[in-house]
Order: sequence, then C-alpha cells, then structure tokens
Amino acid sequence: MLILMEPGATLAQIQAVLAVLEGAGIRGTVQESPVAVSILAPNASRALKADRIEPMDGVSRVVPITSPFKLASADGAPGRTVVEVRGVAVGGPELAVMAGPCGVESREQLFTVARYVAESGTRLLRAGAFKPRTSPYAFQGMGTEALRLLEQARREFDLGIVTEATEVETFDEVERTADLIQVGARNMQNFALLKRAGRSGKPVLLKRGPAATLEEWLFAAEYVLSEGNRNVILCERGIRTWSQHARNTLDVSVIPAAKLLTHLPVIADPSHATGRRDLVIPCARAAVAAGADGLIVETHCSPGQALSDGPQALLPSDFFQMLDQVQRIRAVLAAGSL
Ligand code: PEP
Ligand code: MN
Repeated sequence: MLILMEPGATLAQIQAVLAVLEGAGIRGTVQESPVAVSILAPNASRALKADRIEPMDGVSRVVPITSPFKLASADGAPGRTVVEVRGVAVGGPELAVMAGPCGVESREQLFTVARYVAESGTRLLRAGAFKPRTSPYAFQGMGTEALRLLEQARREFDLGIVTEATEVETFDEVERTADLIQVGARNMQNFALLKRAGRSGKPVLLKRGPAATLEEWLFAAEYVLSEGNRNVILCERGIRTWSQHARNTLDVSVIPAAKLLTHLPVIADPSHATGRRDLVIPCARAAVAAGADGLIVETHCSPGQALSDGPQALLPSDFFQMLDQVQRIRAVLAAGSL
C-alpha cells in the first residue's frame, strides 16, 4: 500500500505510522516529493487493513497497490520520478540526451567525440569500457584503462559518464567511475547483477532485453528497486522480431505503455534499435514524439574505423541535426499544442 501523508504531517506522525507497520512486520519506506510525504509499504495489505492506518493523525489517504510491480508501479509513487544524473534531470521537463561512441577505443577517439558532444550542449557522455559482444572474438572493450579515460573526459569536458557494468565481478570498478550505470539488454535478467545494481548509490539505466515483455522488464526494475536503489531509468533499445531490414525493431508503443504502468523515466536507444545510421534520426524523432524522457545515441568521429557498432554511429553532423529535430518535437509537446 501507499500511504499518502497530509502536506503538514509531522515527523512524529510519520514515525507513528512506521511503528504500526513495523508492529505488523512490514518495513515502510518514506518517500519525499515536492507535493507531500508518502510511505511505501509493499505487500502491507496482506498483514494490515487500510482502516488501521487511515484514521491515524497526519494520514491523508491509503492507496492499495494492485500491480505486481510494487515499487515500479505508477500506483507506488505520488508522482513521476525524476532521476538526477550529475545535474541532469531525467524524467523532468527537459529531454535528457546521452551520446558517445559504443566503446572507448583510445584517448584520441574518446576525447574527439566528447569534445563535440559537449559543444552540442549534451551533458552526458556514453561509452562502454566493458562490452558485451555476441562473438567472443569481437572487441571486448578496453576495461579498466577505459574507465581511467572516461574519468579524464569527465574532468576535461565537464560531462557525466554513462557506462555499462557487464558482470558482478567488475561492478565495483565501474560503479566508482560511472555517474549512471548501464545494465545492458543481454543482462536484463541477470538477477545477481540487478541485485548488485540495487545496492549501488549510483543511478541505473536498465535496458529492455531483446525478447523481454514489458512485464518482464518491470520485474527486472523491481529487482533493482527492491534492494533500495530508487534511481532507475528504463531504456527501450529494440526487440527481436521478424523484420530483417534492421538490427532490431524499435517498439515505439512500449514507451507510452511503460509510462502508464510506472513512475520511472523511460528513454529510448534508436542506435541499437535500428543498427543503421540512416534509420537512427527518424526513430529518435518517433521515440520523442511518443513521449520518451530522453535518448541514448551512439556517435563516432570516424564510424568507418569504429571497433564496434560503426554502422549505426551518427556522424557529428548527423548528431547535431538529430538534436535540433528532437528538441523541436519536444517543444511542440511541451507547448501542449497537440
Ligand atoms: C551498448 O549500449 O553499446 C549496448 C551493448 O547496448 P545493448 O545492451 O542495448 O545491446
Ligand atoms: Mn553499441
């Protein structure tokens, strides 16, 4: 259940509610929002009736959470969650953009891309240090050395770092460097990794698995949330379908569908969703028009030389063009003229 407190509820009143919950063996979590304080108590209705809590001083309303995703559910929060990533609000009024190469390949490559990403006004740089690759013979990422380069890029260009944790063994290392930890599509149901991400103090970008339903994706988010990390961003990155013209199929409709079911921000990755540079901009536009809170896109200074995902990397000029177009679409939506 979600217990909504009155706007002027005192600390003592909040503590009294927590004590009643605790008496029934339930751990309540206090959530503060600009509107009011609420207490989230997953599965509390199994042990307590709402009418035990509702008459208590300072309580405004008790809302049952009927969804199986207790923490990810839109019913479980008084409003939409905004995840802060190094000063960038994901899920707020502004479109959040993360951009950079698929992987860190060298200092020169990373810095060249980071320079134009920063010049574009984008404040989050994406680049993998540990790469999950389909083939064990393909470029696996520069690992620890890449993490050092990402730290230098953050300092030099004042950019937040988005990078992937591929396994529990190297999670600590990635966590120290990242401002936003990516859990990749192939790891969406790696439950040990999800639980470790849930114990992190850093926000998590959870990609949808290529064959995952919306329900499975939200349960994966629930793994992270239920370990205590409430800063989860969902990312649609294309799913496997019968279409053969693109690497994956961008599931545009899952963006509004996810936003109806959850309070978490939802962003889109048109790069992995298409695998083709010429399809990235139109799909980025579609995702933003469908209500995505942000985009994560791959861009490279010389895609022909890229060690991974070159065919889908936007050229610098494409990247600037995409930003201009999606910002204009976002402005139309924000003006409420549709
Ligand atoms: C990536 O972001 O480079 C990546 C490997 O993404 P995904 O997990 O969506 O395939
Ligand atoms: Mn990639």
